[in-house]
Amino acid sequence: MQAEVIAIGDELTSGQRLDTNSQWISRRLTDLGIRVLYHTTVGDDTEAGVNVFRHALHRADLVVSTGGLGPTADDLTREAISKAVGAELVLNQDALDHIRELFTRRRYKMPERNVVQAMFPARSRVVPNPHGTAPGIDMDIPREDRKPARLFALPGVPAELRDMWHGTVEPAIIEWLGDDRRFIRHRLIKCFGAGESPIEKMLPDLIRRGRTPTVGITATKATITLRITAEGATPEACDEGMEPTAATIRECLGDLVFGEGDDELYHVVVRMLNGRQQTLATVECGSGGRLAEWLSEADPAMETYLGGTIARHPNVRARIAGESIEDETLVRAMASGCRDEYGADYALALGPFPQGDDQGSAPGKVHFAVAGPDGVGTKTSLFAAHPDIRTPLAVKQALNFLRLKLMA
Ligand code: ATP
Ligand code: MG
Repeated sequence: MQAEVIAIGDELTSGQRLDTNSQWISRRLTDLGIRVLYHTTVGDDTEAGVNVFRHALHRADLVVSTGGLGPTADDLTREAISKAVGAELVLNQDALDHIRELFTRRRYKMPERNVVQAMFPARSRVVPNPHGTAPGIDMDIPREDRKPARLFALPGVPAELRDMWHGTVEPAIIEWLGDDRRFIRHRLIKCFGAGESPIEKMLPDLIRRGRTPTVGITATKATITLRITAEGATPEACDEGMEPTAATIRECLGDLVFGEGDDELYHVVVRMLNGRQQTLATVECGSGGRLAEWLSEADPAMETYLGGTIARHPNVRARIAGESIEDETLVRAMASGCRDEYGADYALALGPFPQGDDQGSAPGKVHFAVAGPDGVGTKTSLFAAHPDIRTPLAVKQALNFLRLKLMA
């Protein structure tokens, strides 16, 4: 069972609008155990549309399209489907009545061109659109030597699409799948402290095509996510099938693994401290408050994270930590001072970021310190990532340093 999602509209192909519908539909299909193998995006062009539908119906068992069902001249989905499957467009009286009634309810006269929205390919069914004028299309497409493919064409307006999905499309797909229904479940294991390739090397043959369950690896701002995907007859069977793989990953990666699912390092640090009923304060120089922002977000109840200082300017740093000290001595003094000032069990200090451009010269360094009940520890990292991720990386390095200290 393979699916294709088709998004239609010049506003998508020209880059004016992001195609969020395809993502949304694909997530729903995946939840139904259906593998989405293709995403196709096509502009408002009938010939291109016809080709796209033809290809999709050839290579996928289930095709879901979004967009181009409106009443205007650039809305070509109906026509493209009609030509692609060789079914002429015929008027559906019920659909027309519904559209008329919607206009009456809103006290408008229905423009004649809206009649086109009641035109349906022969042998298709109507997907009701309770809150919009464009009904969707639901069709069985006969194929030689295989069971018919199924096609759903839905409007582009995200809210209408969602209503129609939940109201009609999803139940119809479940019924259509019958005993063939499968489940797909994911489990995300989150890691920090090594790059994608070193992590991949540490995993014995797990990230191999064709393995079940599958394991994929992605990096987002230096956080590495291992995504385990299992398919099975029940959700429980999927979860059970993933357990040994998850255990192997945890065993191979040790304390590089910090959490699962939506966990970020700041959630984990707050959770660890909260579990011990201990508190945290921060002082940060280069990161402009990111550390404080993340920790605040993770502690809405204000039980663990007491607050933080943003010490940007050298004069401010000097006032906190004394004149002319740099490097580890600075963060060490800041962490101790912060711990006392806030009366926290732990204080985390993140030092200034190196100034100037990094072209050619050796990368600068960032220093971190944790002050806790057992004294102060420091760590130094290179400030050597892509400019887009330097700040989040440094903040994560600081949080990870604290996490490892708390585990020790
Ligand atoms: P309808 O059939 O309801 O008229 P349509 O796609 O023909 O749908 P448009 O006018 O093209 O109508 O789009 C309606 C709204 O939905 C617009 O705001 C458009 O940007 C948005 N939209 C269309 N397609 C997508 C998509 N794939 N992802 C997110 N938004 C979309
Ligand atoms: Mg459109």
